[in-house]
Amino acid sequence: MQSKSPHFLLVIVAVCLLLLTACGESATPAAKPATSPTVGSEEARRLPGTAITTPQSTPALPPTGTPLPPAHVVILDPGHGADDWGTFHSDSQGQPDILEKNIVLKIAQKIQAQLDPTAFKVILTRTADASPNFPPQDFNGDGKIDQVDDLQARINIANENKGELFLSLHINSSELGNDVGGLETWYAGDRPFAADNKRFAELIQQNNLDSLAAAGYKAQNRRVDDDANLDSSGEDIFVLGPDVGEHRGATNMPGVLTELLFLTNDHEAELLNDEKVQDKLAGGMAEAIKEYFAGS
Ligand SMILES: [Zn+2]
Repeated sequence: MQSKSPHFLLVIVAVCLLLLTACGESATPAAKPATSPTVGSEEARRLPGTAITTPQSTPALPPTGTPLPPAHVVILDPGHGADDWGTFHSDSQGQPDILEKNIVLKIAQKIQAQLDPTAFKVILTRTADASPNFPPQDFNGDGKIDQVDDLQARINIANENKGELFLSLHINSSELGNDVGGLETWYAGDRPFAADNKRFAELIQQNNLDSLAAAGYKAQNRRVDDDANLDSSGEDIFVLGPDVGEHRGATNMPGVLTELLFLTNDHEAELLNDEKVQDKLAGGMAEAIKEYFAGS
């Protein structure tokens, strides 16, 4: 779940820094979330079968070829990371065994893998178990580096990469444990592109329902809803909302936040941890992205 406003610090940033430094090269992917995760390079976007040549030699496209349309830029935002686990499932001993931050990253990577790089340039806001806010910056200038700055970093990555569509991936939790399950997808109804937000939210929700049905699970269709209805505050989810309050810039593109089942539900946690179910969910969301652009 993504809190609307920061409730707790992204703690031990200094420790993170020390760890990242100590890890040497392994810190590099996390250090450049805005640039390293791109696919759809110029090579990948050439016409099939076309040799990759230097600019001085033959043209990249054959004389009779039609230039490819530009790839759509899609931002995938796996929630949480590093010290921020998101929600989690606990084993029979009460020990956390499945963490939201890990499952949503795997599913984001699977969505990326299922989108044709000639048609979609997919950017992940993080590609490792790390905050996208690296090196850490105090975007809102409140003297501390916390969850708001982590969320602002995700927005900034989306805007800097000129994203056309934003999909934030989360998993839900409930104190009621196994009694609660199902799917929710949220959109902001107070943005200039609210109609596109809603259309994309409905596509994501339907495809997630269909993917789980194909995996043999009839998930509860909890709701597709305006994020103003998430709680009594009426505030937007931070990564979807307008440039108000603690924002230092909002996303410039339509987007949604989807909650993929409940990790506090044993059966749904087992499904989420199943590679085949992850593949199905990813395939369905890749399909939703294609359907969104086909209909716009
Ligand atoms: Zn979450």
